[in-house]
Amino acid sequence: NLKPIKSKRRSRDELQQLIEAFNDMVERLEREFEKQDQFVSDASHELRTPLTVIDGYATMLKRWGKTKPEVLDEGIDAITEEGARMKHLAEQLLLLVRDGEHLQLEPEHFQLDDVVRKAVRAMETTSQRPFYFSSETDTLFVYADLEKVKQVLYIILDNALKYSDKEIKVSVWQEHRAAYVAITDYGGGISEAEQARIFDRFYRINKARSREDGGTGLGLSIAAKLMEAQGGRITLDSKVGAYTTFTIEMPMGE
Ligand code: ADP
Repeated sequence: NLKPIKSKRRSRDELQQLIEAFNDMVERLEREFEKQDQFVSDASHELRTPLTVIDGYATMLKRWGKTKPEVLDEGIDAITEEGARMKHLAEQLLLLVRDGEHLQLEPEHFQLDDVVRKAVRAMETTSQRPFYFSSETDTLFVYADLEKVKQVLYIILDNALKYSDKEIKVSVWQEHRAAYVAITDYGGGISEAEQARIFDRFYRINKARSREDGGTGLGLSIAAKLMEAQGGRITLDSKVGAYTTFTIEMPMGE
């Protein structure tokens, strides 16, 4: 009588599968919790650094502020700067923990090539660095969240300025029903191992330097999130010692 044995074996197989699926789930949850813990610990660390500076300068002002007026400017400047840094960080953290659905998209029709041209011009004026802009069309309309697209553009343009001291090339084009913006700098490039990590929260290749530049390591993770929330994405192509290209892709919408 083969039947009962077969069904018994099947149920044992099923049980085994269930156990494996359950273990898988537990492992995934554990990894998720670990990531959350890491995020909270990184965030606290980042907030503590400016707080320590503020605390130090406040103590200095308390001790010397009245008798040595020359310390006033230095102290007040440092406290203001670190305060602004904390505010910026807090805003970025809020953006990151808000899940995709709660980002409140406000899509509208706008001319992407025009928005990018203006952003490039603004960056060129303030940075005094050469930018080369090109667009395949001069009427590339998209239906997307304009403010969020601008935010993403500024994050990537700002990085191109920070991590390279050469010219920057920006191009806009359309392919099928998607619009693209590519931003290329000719700085040091990013190795393949680093490419896999730079979209991670708080990840910075050169931690010391990023702090000097006012970096938090959150820019790219925010940019990726803002694009994904509206059905787009950011891709990266880079060669060490040669170039880095970030490409923003977005559906053109209705
Ligand atoms: P931040 O610039 O605040 O450090 P980001 O999330 O914007 O954070 O970028 C993460 C890291 O990726 C940067 O610290 C830098 O090491 C690297 N990176 C980003 N853009 C470039 C670029 N254009 N060229 C080289 N490295 C870059």
